[in-house]
Amino acid sequence: MPLQLFNTLGRKQEEFIPLNPGVVGFYGCGPTVYNYAHIGNLRAYVTHDILVRLLRERGFRVNHVMNITDVGHLSGDNDSGEDKMVKSAAERGRTVLETAEFYTQAFFNDTDRINVIRPSVVCRATEHIDGMIALIKRIEERGYTYSSGGNLYFDISRFDRYGELALLRMDELKAGARTAVDENKRNSGDFVLWFTKSKFENQALVWDSPWGRGYPGWHIECSAMSIKYLGEQFDIHAGGIDHIPVHHTNEIAQSEGATGIHPWVRYWVHNEFLVMDKGKMSKSAGAFLTLQDLVEQGFDPLDYRYFLIGGHYRSQLQFSWDSLEGARNSRKSLMDRLRLLAETAGADNPHSPVSFDSPASSGSPAIKRLDAFNAALDDDISTPRALAELWGLLKDNAVPPADALRACLYMDRVLGLKLERALIGGGEEAPPELTAEIEDLVARRNAAKAAKDFAQADAIRNELSLRGIVLEDTKTGTVWRRAK
Ligand code: AMP
Ligand code: ZN
Repeated sequence: MPLQLFNTLGRKQEEFIPLNPGVVGFYGCGPTVYNYAHIGNLRAYVTHDILVRLLRERGFRVNHVMNITDVGHLSGDNDSGEDKMVKSAAERGRTVLETAEFYTQAFFNDTDRINVIRPSVVCRATEHIDGMIALIKRIEERGYTYSSGGNLYFDISRFDRYGELALLRMDELKAGARTAVDENKRNSGDFVLWFTKSKFENQALVWDSPWGRGYPGWHIECSAMSIKYLGEQFDIHAGGIDHIPVHHTNEIAQSEGATGIHPWVRYWVHNEFLVMDKGKMSKSAGAFLTLQDLVEQGFDPLDYRYFLIGGHYRSQLQFSWDSLEGARNSRKSLMDRLRLLAETAGADNPHSPVSFDSPASSGSPAIKRLDAFNAALDDDISTPRALAELWGLLKDNAVPPADALRACLYMDRVLGLKLERALIGGGEEAPPELTAEIEDLVARRNAAKAAKDFAQADAIRNELSLRGIVLEDTKTGTVWRRAK
């Protein structure tokens, strides 16, 4: 069975077929960097990570683009409330850009620790204002906008397909107009493309535009940046389910409004929420747990990754310390079993290349397990079933230890649990003798990047990440470190 994904647009599971053979354009909404990511946000990024890894395993070259929201996001997604960045900067006595930089670094520190492969492109909203203005001009030229009270709005009543993604009904949206919070809006569902000082006198970051000095609405950044890096039509757009009715609905209206191309995005993938005993975890409400909180309670970030992939991304997942404890115990037994297997397998090096799909090995017990594992992932990314197959493999006495090890490492290319660590010295850290080999891989990745062979460069980064090595591209070159 080829890879199938549940597409929010149309609400059905479909075979994944990219626009251009062999290549996938993937956009995942990134963080608003006014605070630490909470563990619910990390669920979204682990979901993106598993999907990107899976697509790469299926042979696609994935261009993974993620935005960093450092301007324009108000506390209410529908243009109401305060500016999240401005408020946070004021509270911390820092500038907006300092605040953004601090939390962007903190974000990547967390995602590295939880073994999320960094996107191919990370784009900051404040560095793409020209592109947003250019896109808004196109939307305006096609007649979808109006000015009111100093702001430029998108008029949803002019866009016939408005609400298709979220199954919103235009008559209901119009009825909502009576309760509109912003009196400048003709319809409560209309949204701001460009704010001017008329709304926020103290806005820290403002730019000149054809509509006056001001700043962009939140939704336009994702349309402008995804189109810039992935083209006017692309394959997959991902985010949490909270984004379906407003943010993603508005992104579609803007992008298709500007280009006239439908569908702008072919597959919409949305993860369900991580919930606490007390309900939704929310950054703006201030009540949330970070990865560091878990670490301070003695958990390894990978315990949390294990906990997350134990649930299907489209089902709500309830966080509790007890279930995290359960995940830690399971991950520990997994690593112990792997260490035991490695001892039993002895000199038979699990890193030696083995073709699992060669005719000679088809029908072997390891291949059967791998087939079931792949089938689970191809069935709308069923990580719980995939994890069960990993366990099934480890408990299957019919599988020779060396085969089992190879199969586990192969499975881990998608699961990202750093199972490799069980084999290198038995500890959680890579031993120093691996240093030369790692440096050689880093040099090969740099050469691949210089030759613009990004698929190869990504493959090497993945390989290193499997060994618990994180790469950082700095101005003076690539440096590596062991993941914490
Ligand atoms: P934000 O930084 O608030 O824009 O959110 C970043 C990502 O996390 C978005 O894709 C959200 O949909 C997602 N998200 C927010 N809260 C949760 C949660 N409790 N569980 C899962 N995903 C979430
Ligand atoms: Zn977005």
